[in-house]
Amino acid sequence: MIIQNYIEKISKCSKPAEGVTRLPFTKEHKSANNLLKQWMSEAGLKISLDAAGTLIGKYVSPKKNAKTLLIGSHQDSGYNSGKYDGIMGVILPILALKELKKKKIILPYNVEILAFADEEGVRFPTALMGPRSLAGTFNKKDLKLKDKNNISIEQALKSFGCNPLKINSLKRNKKDLLGFFEVHIEQGPVLESKNLAVGIVNGISGISRFKLEIEGYASHAGTTPMHLRKDSLAATAEVINAVENLAKKNKNFLATMASIENKPNSVNAIPAKSLSFVECRSVDDKKRKKVEKDISKKIGLICKKRGLKFNLNKTYDQSAVSCDKKMMSKLKKSFQNLKLNPFVLMSGATHDASAMSDLCPISMLFVRSQKGLSHNPKEFTIEKDMQIAVKVIEKFLINFN
Ligand SMILES: [Zn+2]
Repeated sequence: MIIQNYIEKISKCSKPAEGVTRLPFTKEHKSANNLLKQWMSEAGLKISLDAAGTLIGKYVSPKKNAKTLLIGSHQDSGYNSGKYDGIMGVILPILALKELKKKKIILPYNVEILAFADEEGVRFPTALMGPRSLAGTFNKKDLKLKDKNNISIEQALKSFGCNPLKINSLKRNKKDLLGFFEVHIEQGPVLESKNLAVGIVNGISGISRFKLEIEGYASHAGTTPMHLRKDSLAATAEVINAVENLAKKNKNFLATMASIENKPNSVNAIPAKSLSFVECRSVDDKKRKKVEKDISKKIGLICKKRGLKFNLNKTYDQSAVSCDKKMMSKLKKSFQNLKLNPFVLMSGATHDASAMSDLCPISMLFVRSQKGLSHNPKEFTIEKDMQIAVKVIEKFLINFN
C-alpha cells in the first residue's frame, strides 16, 4: 500500500491550475467522491451522501445497539492549495479500516468516515456546513448565501444530488456517539522541529481580533522637530514590538499584527492616522483574555506617552476547544504501543473538529508537514509519516473498545 498514490490520484480531481483547487459541490468534488467511494467500498464500508454533501463510509459493527465513532475531515481545498490538507484525513482512516478488515479485527462499535464538503469557506461566505449540520448548529438562512457566480448553497446542493430541506434532520443524537476524531496535517513547523512524524493535539486555539486606530496629526516631515511630532505610525510600530514581546513571554500564546493602513502615507508627511489589527490565539481562553488585557494596557501607555488618541475594538472572538482527555489517552496508548513519543501540541488553525465539538467529544492527530507548509502547492508529507499515522489510527481504533 503506497499512500502517496492515493494522494496523487485524488489531487488530480482539481481545476486545471497549479496545486489543488477543489471547491465544494463542483465536478471536481464529484470525481473526488467517486474515488473515495471506491476506496471506502474496498474497505468494506457502507456508502451514503447526506443532505449537506458529506460523503459517509460506514463500518457496521456486528454488536447490537453499538455506538458510533465519527472520523473525518474535509475534501475541499482553497485555490491553488496543497494535496494533503483535509483529504489526507479522509484517506488515512479508510486505509486503517481496510487494514483491520484484512486482519479480520472486529470492532464493538460502528465507525463512520466522513468526507465533509466545505471547510475552507472559499466558494461561499460560510464554512463547516457538514459538521454544523450534524451538530445542529447550521443556520438554514445560510442556504441563501451565494458564490461569485450567483449560485446559492441551496442550488449548489441540489445540483450535487442533495436535498437541502433535509439538513435539519441530519442532527445527530449525542447519546449514539463515542466522539469525533480528525487526522490532519499539522500545517505548521512544530513536529518537524521535534523530528516527529505524528503528534497528539490537546486543543484548538481560541482566536480574538482587535482593530486598533491610533490618531495623531499630519505635519511637515522637514519642519516638525522629533519631540513635537504626533506620529501615529511610530506609535503603531512601538505597539507591534510590545505585542511581540508580550506574546513571547507567554507560553501557548500567539499574537500577530500583520495588516496596517496608514494616512496620509506620504514620504514627507508625519503619519496622522494608522489602522492596524492585533490577532491573538491560545488554547487557553483564560490566558488569552489576560494577555489581551495586558496588550490593551500597553497600547494605552504607549499612546499616552506620545500624546495620541486611540481606539481599540474587538472585532472577532472564537473560544478555544479542548480535546477530550479520554480520547487523548487512547491516542497516547496507541503511540506507546508503537513506541512513538506521545508528543502533545496545540492546533493554531480551525478544523472540522472545531464545529464537531458542539456535538460530541473530539480529538485530533497531527501528521508532520514538510517545512510546515500548507495552503501552498508545495505542501508535502512523506510516505513514512502517513504509514505511521495509519498504524496509529489502527491502534487507536483497537484501543477505543
Ligand atoms: Zn484543513
